[in-house]
Amino acid sequence: MATLPAPLARLIQALVKLPGVGEKTATRLAFHLSRTDRSDVDALAAAIAALREELHTCSRCCALAGSDPCEICGDAQRNAAVVCVVEESADLAAIERSGRFTGTYHVLQGTLAPLDGVGPDDLRVTELLRRLEAGMVREVIVATNPTTEGEATALYLARLIKPLGVRVTRIAHGLPMGGDVEYADLATLGQALEGRRDM
Ligand SMILES: [Zn+2]
Repeated sequence: MATLPAPLARLIQALVKLPGVGEKTATRLAFHLSRTDRSDVDALAAAIAALREELHTCSRCCALAGSDPCEICGDAQRNAAVVCVVEESADLAAIERSGRFTGTYHVLQGTLAPLDGVGPDDLRVTELLRRLEAGMVREVIVATNPTTEGEATALYLARLIKPLGVRVTRIAHGLPMGGDVEYADLATLGQALEGRRDM
């Protein structure tokens, strides 16, 4: 690395921090960008810079969105009585792509992970309860991933929500254990939603 020009070394250092990018990939990307058209590089840099400026967290469902409220919360055609709880905005996007869900969402922004020090206060649970207390929601579908943390989070939410008189369901285990909702194929996601069971 010592022999690399400083601008390249700096970019590689920044790229290596991205998930799934090792030093080899980062180096390849950095050299690729050094040969790329100026306009394309500018567009990439501008898109990254705009993330912080233009990306919002929806004040209702806590999803990452281009507006607040997000497109889904602002859509009167969506069934606000059904709320699908997911771990991350990427999971929401995957379920949306399946085209099988017409309700609304709530993004927890993580799962309970006591060993990593992630407790209920670190998730967007208070925001969810506030929505339920408004009395419009009849069913909460818990679509956290079928991992140990996802299951523990689902049980925690069910214990919290059921006393409020709201039906709590869990998506069916059409997904492989440890598989991410985000990466499940669309048909499987649709079946998982349709086969949901009361908790
Ligand atoms: Zn929203």
